[in-house]
Amino acid sequence: MQSIRYESTRSGAPPVRFADALLRGLAPDGGLYVPDRIPALPKAWRDAETLEDVGALGLMAWLGAEAEADDLRALAHDALGFPAPLVRLNAPAGSEWADVYVLELFHGPTLSFKDVGARSMARLAALFRGDDAEPLTILVATSGDTGSAVADGFAGVPGIEVALLYPEGQVSEVQEQQLVAARPGVRTFAVQGTFDDCQRMVKAAFSDPALEALRLSSANSINVGRLVPQSFYYAHAFAQARRAGWFEEAAVVVPSGNLGNVTAGMLAREGGVPIRRFIAAHNANGFFPAYLRGEATAGAMGPSVRTDSNAMDVGAPSNFERLTHLFPEDLAERVWGTSVGDDVTSATLREVYDATGYLACPHTAVGLEGARRYRAASGDTGAAIVLATAHPAKFPDVVERATGSAPLAPPRLAAFATRERRSERIAPTEEALRAALLVCQS
Ligand SMILES: *Cc1c(COP(=O)(O)O)cnc(C)c1O
Repeated sequence: MQSIRYESTRSGAPPVRFADALLRGLAPDGGLYVPDRIPALPKAWRDAETLEDVGALGLMAWLGAEAEADDLRALAHDALGFPAPLVRLNAPAGSEWADVYVLELFHGPTLSFKDVGARSMARLAALFRGDDAEPLTILVATSGDTGSAVADGFAGVPGIEVALLYPEGQVSEVQEQQLVAARPGVRTFAVQGTFDDCQRMVKAAFSDPALEALRLSSANSINVGRLVPQSFYYAHAFAQARRAGWFEEAAVVVPSGNLGNVTAGMLAREGGVPIRRFIAAHNANGFFPAYLRGEATAGAMGPSVRTDSNAMDVGAPSNFERLTHLFPEDLAERVWGTSVGDDVTSATLREVYDATGYLACPHTAVGLEGARRYRAASGDTGAAIVLATAHPAKFPDVVERATGSAPLAPPRLAAFATRERRSERIAPTEEALRAALLVCQS
C-alpha cells in the first residue's frame, strides 16, 4: 500500500508523511496540509455496524501504509467507541420535516462532535510520536466545545500533556464545569481577560524560545489528525440508513464555523459515500455562503459576530484555504450555503420541537433551517441528513427560551457539576503564561 503524502496549500514546503503533518499542525510556510490523494473507503463500510467499525476501515485506508492494522483497530475502538445514531424525525409523509434525518454526534464524553476529532487526534499523536522520550504539550485557547473535548481526549494519554486557556467568566456555567474538571495531565488556566487575550497568549507561546523545551503543539481544527477521523461518521450515517431501508443517497447539512466538518465530509464523498450535495449552514457569520453565491471574495473575511450558536462564531474560517485548494473548480456545485440569524434559529428550534418532538441544540437548529431552505431553493426533496453537532443540554438557556422546555442533561453532563475542579488563575499576558508553564506542577 502506497503511503499518502501531505502537501501545503501554499506549496512552498516539501510533502510530508502523516506523522509530520499531525505533529506539526501547520506547514512551515503557514499553509494547511492537504493529502496528495483521497483514498477510497473499503466497500465493507456499507455493512459496518458501528462508528468504531467504520473507523477501523477508514484508518486502514488512510494509514495502512504507516501503522499496523492491529494498532489502528485498537485506536478506533478506544477513540470512537460511542454511538452516533441516525434518527428519523417523526413527521408524516408530505410534511415539511418528512425524510429529514439527524445524525447525533454528541454521544461522546463531552457531548459535542468535537470528541470524535479530539479523541482520535490524541491517540494518533501518541501512536506516531514514537518512543520519543520528550513529552509533548498541547496548548489550546478555547471558548467553546473544543477545549473540553481536547482536555478529555488527551487526558491520560502517555507522553502528552495539555495546557488549556479560557477567559474566566466569559463561558457558560455548563462549559466552565467541563473545562475545569480535574484530569490527569491537564492544566487549566482561567485567564483574567477575553478570548482574544487567550489566543494572543497562545500564539506568543508558540514562538517563545524560553518555552522550546516544552515542545508545544496545537490541536485546533486545521489538524489532519482531527479532519480525517471526522470523515468516518458520514459513512456510518449512510450504513445505518441502508440497514433501516431508509435511503441510499442524501444531501447532508453541516452546521459550520471553521469548515472543518464540511471538509471532512468532502473527503468521505471522494472516498465513495453517496452524498448528493453539502449544505453549509452558518449563523450570522455568513462569509462562506456569500462566497458560494459569488458575492464575496476571500478578502471579505473579517471579525466574528457573537450569536446563540457560539461554537460557530467564526468570521474567517480556517479551512476555507484547504477547501478551495482541494476543489478549486466546482466548490459551489458541491456545496450550497446559507446564513441563519438568531431569531430564525430560535423559531426553527421551536417549530421542529412542536412538529416532531425533537429538541435540537442551537447549532443543529441552524442546520435544520438550512435543510428547509435548501429544499425550497433546489426542489431536491429527497432525504436530507442534518448533523447534530452538540447536545441541547449544553445550551440550556437558548433551548428553553426558544421552546419553553428545559433539555434534560444526560448523567455524564450532570456529573461535571460535582467533579473536582482544578484551575489556575493567571493574568492576560504572555509573561504570566510563560511563568506558569515553566513552573513544574507535581
Ligand atoms: C465546532 C462546532 C461547529 C462548527 O464546526 P466546524 O468544523 O468549525 O465548521 C458546529 N457546531 C458545534 C456544536 C461545534 O462545537
